[in-house]
Amino acid sequence: MTLTDLTLQEAAARLAAGSISSRELTAAHLDRIATVDPRLNAYLTVTAEQALAQAEAADAQRTAGGETPPLLGVPLAIKDVLCLQATRTTAGSRILENFVAPYTATAVQRLLDAGAVILGKLNCDEFAMGSSTENSAYGPTRNPWDLDRVPGGSSGGSAAAVAARLTLGALGTDTGGSVRQPASFCGVVGLKTSYGRVSRYGLIAYGSSLDSIGPLARTVADAALLFSQIAGHDPRDATSMPMPVPALGGWTEDLRGLRVGVPREYFIDGMQPAVEQAVRAAIDHLQALGATPIEISLPHTAYAVPVYYLIAPAEASANLARFEGVRYGPRAEADALWDVFEKTRGERFGAEVKRRIMLGTYALSAGYYDAFYGQAQKVRTLIKRDFDQAFEQVDVIACPVAPTTAFPIGTKVDDPLAMYLEDVFTLPPSLAGIPGLSVPCGNDAEGLPIGLQLLGPAFGEERVLRVGHAYEQTTDWHHATPAL
Ligand code: GLN
Repeated sequence: MTLTDLTLQEAAARLAAGSISSRELTAAHLDRIATVDPRLNAYLTVTAEQALAQAEAADAQRTAGGETPPLLGVPLAIKDVLCLQATRTTAGSRILENFVAPYTATAVQRLLDAGAVILGKLNCDEFAMGSSTENSAYGPTRNPWDLDRVPGGSSGGSAAAVAARLTLGALGTDTGGSVRQPASFCGVVGLKTSYGRVSRYGLIAYGSSLDSIGPLARTVADAALLFSQIAGHDPRDATSMPMPVPALGGWTEDLRGLRVGVPREYFIDGMQPAVEQAVRAAIDHLQALGATPIEISLPHTAYAVPVYYLIAPAEASANLARFEGVRYGPRAEADALWDVFEKTRGERFGAEVKRRIMLGTYALSAGYYDAFYGQAQKVRTLIKRDFDQAFEQVDVIACPVAPTTAFPIGTKVDDPLAMYLEDVFTLPPSLAGIPGLSVPCGNDAEGLPIGLQLLGPAFGEERVLRVGHAYEQTTDWHHATPAL
């Protein structure tokens, strides 16, 4: 077996047994990145030299004996919105083209503390705004299942790299679907964590009340291991919750007694029939494992797209004000200070980012604040209440991740509304701050992956992982590998 075909857990077990070294494992991934990634464009930066040095240090630590951390010598990669000290961190934007992070994000530091080797930084939509990775200033990432299609977004580089075996696991971020939807499009597992579960310190902010960091991996157990390492309170993020991280694992495939909510509003006209069929079949499969499906209603679902596309751009417009050519990255030359700001931002932000800044600034402006931003916040509360009420009746919710499978590059990029509609099923959980897992559950007629979305109550990651694991271990979808 090729080393890059191992799952993260398999690789960690072999490292622990001493049958492979981190140096071999890391070199195998770097070689595969060098041969395959020119076709995919999943990596924006490959930190080959540091990775090999980390691998050698991990091997030395293991030889020395004693306690070894859980990810010792395991190669991983991270979305380029997460800071890694002394490494270029672009957020997919030309405004941060030369920005070298002076510090490391907490989530990334926790992976390093657990012994991980970092292979590099992964492509994404500019400032994580998008659903296809086509908004990256560094060119789109391609879907490993079909190079003419998008990998989803905004963590498209993370999902493509995991699917193509260019890393054993990755970190992505999810503000409105950016871990779950690319995981679904690329046939891998993606966990959106509860808001406040993983520290946002060192994450370049997009929508601060929505941003969450989560793992992408080939199996649920792999994602669970990464989650357990990055989660937990961090005094550097005031919204990080001081809650214990549950023990994970020891799961069985017996789902007797589990109540699975099936929301009526998540099966809509216009969705790809193959997606509905695959998700309904997955729900039948959960029933065969002992679960009881219960039809539920989340009545405010239809408002999620307009509510999110007011709140997220409003927060983005404030977060992005700091990029003006003085404090970070490159600067356009001009005589007056104001012109420096205007020229730098005008030249260096992409079209979608400018659109969001304008939308957000408008929604927050005096006279419109109550009508738009204030109103959106109220409806957000109603969406959250829908979930609170649903979780009084059911343990998890099962539904599609996205209404379609991966679409061809170029087909939606000039039609923002069509692109925003890709997020219909991922935005409500984001607005509610709850966890969501995407697990492979089928293919369409063209062989493109389809994801099942499992939602749990806030801080209920253990529950969605347990159910996802039971589904995965009794189906074969996660074994499929793109031909490339
Ligand atoms: N597609 C959504 C957006 O463009 C979500 C992106 C994300 O989760 N980062 O805002």
